[in-house]
Amino acid sequence: MAGGDIEKEAYEDIEEGVMVNSGFLNGLPVKEAQQKITEWLEEKGIGRAKVNYKLRDWVFSRQRYWGEPIPLVDCEKCGWVPIPESELPLMLPEVESYEPTDTGESPLANIEEWVNTTCPKCGCPAKRETDTMPQWAGSSWYFLRYTDPHNNDALASKENLDYWMPVDWYNGGMEHTTLHLLYSRFWHKFLYDIGVVNTPEPYKKRTSHGMILGENNEKMSKSRGNVINPDDIVREFGADTLRMYEMFIGDFERSVPWSMNGVRGCRRFLDRVWRLQDIMVDDENISPEMETNIHKTIKKVSEDYENLKYNTAIAAMMSLVNEFYAANRVTKGELKTLLILLNPVAPHITEELWTIIDKDSRLIHQTWPEWDENKIVEETVEIAVQFNGRVRGKLVLPADASEEEAREAALNDEKLKGYWEGKKIVKVIYVPGRILNIVVK
Ligand SMILES: [Zn+2]
Repeated sequence: MAGGDIEKEAYEDIEEGVMVNSGFLNGLPVKEAQQKITEWLEEKGIGRAKVNYKLRDWVFSRQRYWGEPIPLVDCEKCGWVPIPESELPLMLPEVESYEPTDTGESPLANIEEWVNTTCPKCGCPAKRETDTMPQWAGSSWYFLRYTDPHNNDALASKENLDYWMPVDWYNGGMEHTTLHLLYSRFWHKFLYDIGVVNTPEPYKKRTSHGMILGENNEKMSKSRGNVINPDDIVREFGADTLRMYEMFIGDFERSVPWSMNGVRGCRRFLDRVWRLQDIMVDDENISPEMETNIHKTIKKVSEDYENLKYNTAIAAMMSLVNEFYAANRVTKGELKTLLILLNPVAPHITEELWTIIDKDSRLIHQTWPEWDENKIVEETVEIAVQFNGRVRGKLVLPADASEEEAREAALNDEKLKGYWEGKKIVKVIYVPGRILNIVVK
């Protein structure tokens, strides 16, 4: 490809590169060249396009009791015969013991009265299959049954499937992304082809959360001794702290290690929220000084929740609480807004605090606050920029910009470069909202 030293290697950029020394492919980017090669092979009749799925063989039998029995019998005369549909579902026999056998066979193989049966086709003696289906089997379609759990005539009624399917949003562990996702889609597509379900795909949206690791950054396991028991955390720090910490621990999709310091930090934050009642003033309004902060936080938290960015939503609420303490004052209206925003993360403490500051209503009955885009925009001012007392340009700055910020903005402005580059800045005079004068030599 272009630019490469072919003495060293035959190609370099296999994603974005452009073909050279390749006959009719010269000048084409990789993607287009691949298309063109395929067409060329097909035209010549020496190849054809084919999609390869990364499907692995699925060993669909287990030698254990707990699993769906496989509805097949082995007849002496007919070989393997399926059980007629009228006899489905085939149920597991009730047993005293479902321990594994000494022979490695399924525990069901020991239950002779269940194993020995007759062939549905010819009536001769036959034996049931004693292996059971793997857990993947049930997990591939269980959610379909949720749409109609008491239906004894069908997997689910058409009306219920029409109403509920496809699943709006399916979330699972990262470790299930490949296999469970593949299997459940495979089953669903089969069921769709035979007309049992009404949608070609089972889910509209699929997400996976990262794994929470032990404090030593390894997968939690008994043998490693790094398991955190949530009950212990709830006992020591409360359920809200546990819930909040799990939301705050890191990016939704990433695996992150547990941290007891992080847990303590969340508890401290909730304590700070609790104590806001001490600096609350009885005013249902948002104060003008807090308006921008409040609206920014409503927007940030609302959008972050929708995008599973719980950690940054919580960080925004933490900084709002810092602002309240810095002002040493929070209005009842501001505190109520915070409590609603925080409620999904810490439902108990927020509801309790709500009833303390407003005993006639419940937080749970409130509507989600809305933000006003106009109140988020910080006030800006246009100032004149002078060099050695002569106006050379203008800058738009936040109304409360510091001298440092104004100076930075001026020195980063391309149009003003000529007035100071190569010179020494000896003095800066800044009149907020009016003028920035830079004296150079
Ligand atoms: Zn038979």
